Amino acid sequence: MKHNFGAGPCILPKEVFEEASRAVIDFNGTGLSILEISHRSKEFEEVIAETESLVRELLNVPAGYSVLFLQGGASQQFAMVPMNLLPEGGFASYLDTGVWATKAAKGAKKIGQIDIVASSSDQNYSYIPKDFAIPADSSYFHYTSNNTIYGTEVFHKPNTSVPTVVDMSSDILSRTIDVSEFDLLYAGAQKNMGPAGVTLVVIKDELFGKSGKTIPTIFDYESHAKAGSMYNTPPVFSIYVSMLNLRWLKAKGGIEVIEQENIIKARTLYDEIDRNPFFKGTAAVEDRSRMNVTFVMDTPELEAEFLALAKERNLIGIKGHRSVGGFRASIYNALSISSINALIDTMREFEERKK
Ligand code: PMP
Repeated sequence: MKHNFGAGPCILPKEVFEEASRAVIDFNGTGLSILEISHRSKEFEEVIAETESLVRELLNVPAGYSVLFLQGGASQQFAMVPMNLLPEGGFASYLDTGVWATKAAKGAKKIGQIDIVASSSDQNYSYIPKDFAIPADSSYFHYTSNNTIYGTEVFHKPNTSVPTVVDMSSDILSRTIDVSEFDLLYAGAQKNMGPAGVTLVVIKDELFGKSGKTIPTIFDYESHAKAGSMYNTPPVFSIYVSMLNLRWLKAKGGIEVIEQENIIKARTLYDEIDRNPFFKGTAAVEDRSRMNVTFVMDTPELEAEFLALAKERNLIGIKGHRSVGGFRASIYNALSISSINALIDTMREFEERKK
């Protein structure tokens, strides 16, 4: 059995893959593949409606918000957010906590004016800046709640009265959040929601038309909301598999239950990193992500040796991103504690060999 610690696309529950594979051949006894039915068919309308209602239920989305299924990944949101929310002459505030946050800010800079309220680039993004001021006249404030590459996470929304936009690509559905604290949240699906190809956007309807600009229809949130995410052909299969995954999450007991599991999984792994003399964590302890656990060794030679052992033990995808080096274990919702234990056993085996 392989233990998939990949950062995304990543592990999804096996039963989701099994059901999805059956639907590729015969979707719900229709004699047709999910890949060939019309997105306007009654069958697919039921799929998208159930996916939306599961998102609303699991995230407890309040009234007055639209739930959209878009394309172009989270990266497209780096442009769509300022296109839709930044008026002529206005400016938006961004918190810089790593590669994705920087890309979001750069994307916005092409559309209008931005202000970086704080950055942790001085320490290779190993912590989350805490004391910073968000100008009250910002059109909106943007941050990344989980920094997939650096293994840091923002657990509490920074305090501000300006509309807040959050990129939750790598921690959506992993912990309870209060959606009403946010004006717009988005997430590429390919971590905890489903396969790549669909992007979840949850937006307060009041934001429609906020920039006062003429936006190409395909980039206008309001046009997608009015069309029920069917302005153009949606990513049918990605939405379908997301629905199966959301059903799985609901059957498990929802986000409160998975959050407790995620807390235990992360704690178990960080405890070993802190105990084992060969490894050390890279993120500030108080900002450690529960989704992406980053750690290193003292010498690159030993790292190569550990990676080789990990491969032998069927641990997949633990090589760290080049910006941090070392290792990164992505421990999303579908990764079981038994995979965490397999990694810990391998770390202990390595320690035994080396001491
Ligand atoms: N934001 C975050 C936090 C991410 O982790 C990623 C991808 N790993 C992105 C944005 C970019 O997502 P996409 O590839 O869907 O554009």
